[in-house]
Parts: sequence; C-alpha cells; structure tokens
Amino acid sequence: MEHFDVLIVGAGISGVGAAYHLQHEMPERSFVILETLESFGGTWLTHKYPGVRSDSDLYTFGYGFKPWVGPPIATAGEILKYMGEVIDENDLGAHIRYRHHISDASWDSGTNLWTLQAENLATGEQLTFTTNFLWMCQGYYQHDKGYTPEWPGMDRFKGQIVHPQTWPEDLDYAGKKVICIGSGATAATVVPAIAGDAAHVTVLQRSPTYFWTGPNRNETADMLRELDIPEEWVHEIVRKKILKDFGELTTFALTEPDMAREALMQGVRDCLPEGYDVEKHFGPKYKPWQQRLAFVPNADLFEGIKAGKASMVTDEIETFTETGIRTKGGEELEADIILTATGFNISVLGNIAFSVDGKPLDLADTITYRGMMFTGVPNMLWVFGYFRASWTLRADLISDLVIRLLRLMDAKGVQRVTPHLRPQDEGLPVLEWMAEDNFNPNYLKRSMHLLPKRLDVPEWMHTQDYYTERETLPAANLDDGCLVYE
Ligand SMILES: Cc1cc2nc3c(=O)[nH]c(=O)nc-3n(C[C@H](O)[C@H](O)[C@H](O)COP(=O)(O)OP(=O)(O)OC[C@H]3O[C@@H](n4cnc5c(N)ncnc54)[C@H](O)[C@@H]3O)c2cc1C
Repeated sequence: MEHFDVLIVGAGISGVGAAYHLQHEMPERSFVILETLESFGGTWLTHKYPGVRSDSDLYTFGYGFKPWVGPPIATAGEILKYMGEVIDENDLGAHIRYRHHISDASWDSGTNLWTLQAENLATGEQLTFTTNFLWMCQGYYQHDKGYTPEWPGMDRFKGQIVHPQTWPEDLDYAGKKVICIGSGATAATVVPAIAGDAAHVTVLQRSPTYFWTGPNRNETADMLRELDIPEEWVHEIVRKKILKDFGELTTFALTEPDMAREALMQGVRDCLPEGYDVEKHFGPKYKPWQQRLAFVPNADLFEGIKAGKASMVTDEIETFTETGIRTKGGEELEADIILTATGFNISVLGNIAFSVDGKPLDLADTITYRGMMFTGVPNMLWVFGYFRASWTLRADLISDLVIRLLRLMDAKGVQRVTPHLRPQDEGLPVLEWMAEDNFNPNYLKRSMHLLPKRLDVPEWMHTQDYYTERETLPAANLDDGCLVYE
C-alpha cells in the first residue's frame, strides 16, 4: 500500500499539466500519476491513423506555461514531443507510473481517504494506493475501442473494416478502394492523408459537417519571430490574439448563425470547382458551434476532392455488401477497406468503479459543481475541457482552482471538501449535463444518461464557455456554501 497526498489519473495533456501546476505551486505535496498506457500523451499516443493532428491551434491547445514554437496545427508526434519536453524540463517522469490501470476507487469518510485498486499491467501485480485528493484526468472516451454502429450485412463484407482509433500498423491501403464512413475531424484528417496512395477514397456521410480552412501558419507569430521577440512573448501574444479572434468568431456564430453558416459555406465553395453541390455535401442542418468546427489546414481535404482522389456521398447506409456498401439512395459503393470514422464511446471517470462510504457511485445521480466536482463526492475533481475552444485552456484554469482549493483546505485545517446544493439551489429543475441546443454531437447525445446533471446557475453547470470562465473561475468564491468543508 502506498500513500500520496494527491493522485492524478492519466498522463494525457490534462494529467501532465496538473502535475506541473502541483509541483510548481505546492512542492511540499507528494503526488503520483497512474496511467494505463505505456507512455504519456493520452489521445496523442492512442491515435495512430495516418495524418493524425490537432484541429485546435497549439498556441491555445498548448499550456499557458510552455511556449509552442511549431506550426499552429500540430501532428500527434509534435504534441508528444512538446509534452515530453514538459515532463523532462520539470522532472515529472519520476512521478508517473505507466501501465498502471485503476479499476476501483472507494472513499471512506472515517479516514477521509480514497483507496484505489490498480493493476500493474506489466507484471500482473494488484496494487493498492491511498490518497487525500483524487485529480481525475482520464479524458472522456474509451481509449481501447472506438464506436462502431451495427449495420446490416457487415459480416458479408469481404474486405477489411477498420476503426481509425485502432488503426493496424500494417494496414496496406496503397492502390485500394477505401470508403470512410463519417465526416468529422477524424475523416477530415485521415482522408487527405491516405488519398494520395489509395486508388480512391469515398467519404460516406449521413449528414454534413462544417469545415473551415486556412494556411497552417500564424502571421502574428511569423512577424514577431522576424523581430527576434523571445518565444515566451510570442506564445503569450499569439495566444491572446487567437483567443480574441476566436471569441469574436464565436459571438458572431452564436448571434448571427445564418450569416456564419453562409460564410463557412462560401469558404468551402471557394475551395471546390464551380458547380460542386456544396449545400448537399457541406451544408449541415445544425447551427455553427452546436458541434465542433473541423479545421482543414491548407484545404487538403478539398484538394483531394478536386484532384478526383476523394469524393463525397451524402446518404444513409442500407446494407454492407460483399464488395462494399449499398446506400438507401441506391448507390453501390465499392471498397477493399471500410473505415468507420464514427466516433467515440464516452467513458465516464475512466471506467473506474467508484464508491463513497460503501455505496456504489452513479455519476448520473449527481449534480456537477462548475463542471469539475460532483454533489456528495468528496475530494475528487475531474478535468473536462472545452469542446468549442482548446481543451487545455480549461485544464489550466482548473489546475489553478485546485491549487486554491487545496490551500483553502490547509488554511481551514480540514481534510474533506464535498459539493452540496445550497438551500437556494434545492428545488431548481435538474437538467441534463448539456443542453441539446448548446452542443450536440452524437457521441454526447448517446451518452447523456451517463453524465452528471446540472442546474441552470453558474455554480452548478459546465458552461463550455471559455470567455466567461476565464473571468469566473479565478474569481469563484470557494466558500460560498456550495463546497462543504469538514
Ligand atoms: C483524434 C483527436 C483529436 C483531437 N483534437 C483536439 C484538438 O485539436 N483540440 C482540442 O481541444 N481537443 C482535441 N481532442 C480532444 C482531446 O481528447 C482533448 O483535447 C485532450 O487531448 C484530452 O486530454 P486528457 O489528458 O484530458 O485526456 P486523454 O488524452 O484522453 O488522456 C487520458 C489518459 O488517462 C488514462 N486513463 C483513463 N482511465 C484510466 C484508468 N482507469 N487508469 C489509468 N489511466 C487511465 C488514459 O490511458 C489516457 O492516457 C481530440 C481528440 C481526438 C480523439
């Protein structure tokens, strides 16, 4: 049995960021990161399909404390290198235990401790850890298996069916006909990456996605670098500029959705030959920002379409056939390989079985405190980032809040902090975690019943609005009655 003051679950970008903040701001605390995978990186280690890259710029997806010096849109390899530097430069490596998978976490109010059961996947050893505070940086989806719907006739298909999340290293697509089902960010990445070598890639989508394009460079950063401005300044200035531009864009999209839609559609029209049916293939039914916008650097997806190497089919699947897919519209699409870029299985709290004082915890029975803690669950916080802005912006804000919270607990001389509804919150309507007209991708809609609930007040919701939270989280009164200290 080992004990740590703080235990961080996951060595993805959130967990490594949490460790950095803890080490710098509370060096006296002992901490460990437990991580299932063989190395750090989380999302950027798991995903190995060709071309895998961010769709956020790295000035904001990178940490506030470590300058990003590469092109704004980064490959998984570049992000891993950046994270590796953070780990090395801050001696965080000694705090990370790889191939340690946590299965159970139980809270005991008698000792004010969490006890975790973990397996060392390298040795098969069962290990027990105790901790005062559990910092969950487990991400939001299952890493070992992507989401693939069941379609009729799948077993008849003679070729290979591959989910991009579990891309076989030796997958040979050269000269092959490929169908990619789905048109989200993954499809927008993988299709241009393989289109050059494949015989042809057909993107088969039930409904279109919004895309926006631009060069993979940042003019402000280029200009500042020409002036020999130190990288710390470049990072800070470019980050501020991007956030300002993005904020204006978000406000425009929310207040003028029709104009924003037209602007996005015109951007796509400009990339495709005249007469191309942009409305059919790139004109979504939802409003801009109700789902994540997919950025296509250097318009590479559209270049593939223009070159005839890739094509779009907007239709539903009737059945898989021996040689491909028949659509409900009657098209026979041929394929040697079918990619199912159909998204994630949400994983709530890293699939860990939680209990509080012997009672199994169902997170869906709780209400979230500011999208990071849960009613009735002591000394535990999760990092769930933004969907519309870079995830890490929120991870950094949350880290600052955790440090404040731990300091407040020290000052009060208490061992336990638990969110509880205040008298004025009791009786307010309990709502789903996210309103459908706010953000509604399918993987969230499928899993809403697993997620915690919210109230329509700032203290009890996950707003998904960076521009509000960058003001409200640092100023949040942690002693306003929502958090009960014992
Ligand atoms: C292909 C892809 C591209 C993306 N691009 C962007 C982007 O450009 N911008 C953006 O903002 N977001 C993007 N996202 C969302 C992305 O997941 C987050 O931004 C971010 O990387 C999440 O980091 P994280 O550390 O919170 O979680 P993850 O990266 O998911 O890491 C969580 C870690 O926790 C570990 N873990 C989980 N459960 C356990 C357990 N029980 N025991 C031990 N360890 C456990 C996992 O193994 C994993 O390593 C993208 C997602 C994907 C899949």
